[in-house]
Amino acid sequence: MENPAEIRNEKLAQKLIKNLSQRHYDAYYCKTSKDALKKAIQLIPQGSSVSWGGSATLNEIGLIKALKDGIYKVYDRENSATQKEKREMSLKAFDCDYYLSSVNAMSEDGVFVNIDGSGNRVAAITWGPEHVILVVGINKICQDVDAAIKRARSTAAPINTARFDVKTPCIIDGTCHDCKSADSICAYVSIQRLSRPAKRHIVILVGEDLGY
Ligand code: SF4
Repeated sequence: MENPAEIRNEKLAQKLIKNLSQRHYDAYYCKTSKDALKKAIQLIPQGSSVSWGGSATLNEIGLIKALKDGIYKVYDRENSATQKEKREMSLKAFDCDYYLSSVNAMSEDGVFVNIDGSGNRVAAITWGPEHVILVVGINKICQDVDAAIKRARSTAAPINTARFDVKTPCIIDGTCHDCKSADSICAYVSIQRLSRPAKRHIVILVGEDLGY
């Protein structure tokens, strides 16, 4: 028998799928990470070129490993030996068949909020790759857009900062100071209302907490 959290997640997911469809997304709900991995692999034809933005979620569900081990043309910035190579790889990502990412937050009515330091991730989600698959843990869902922006700024960003060697105030006390540091990972804040062209974005909503 499902526990109360599972029942709630299922109901919330149904509402979200409906709202995302009205915003021209293809959207699926997977109860577990395992199912989400299966769904993502099912959606990406073998031989496709793939790339991704930095994402704890994609690692947690095992998707990055599956893509690296599978029959895909992988553009992975982390394989670059120099900054020049990293830039070249990032530019290739704009022309890939499938770009993978999570989001920093999503409102219950289907608006996404993403924050980015260098901008490559929000840029590729916005334009370029043929398809974009967004894997979203249920913990990223917020009541409305204001709450989603707040989550992205005050929860996701300070935690993400801790992954990098940067000089920002949040690294010291874990809270956002709305800084103007040159190292800020919050240079670009994207609010995405719709998928355009329709269905370019595919959302896999997962009934588990994933990422930050
Ligand atoms: S302190 Fe700066 S880098 Fe840290 S979360 Fe706030 S705006 Fe982003």
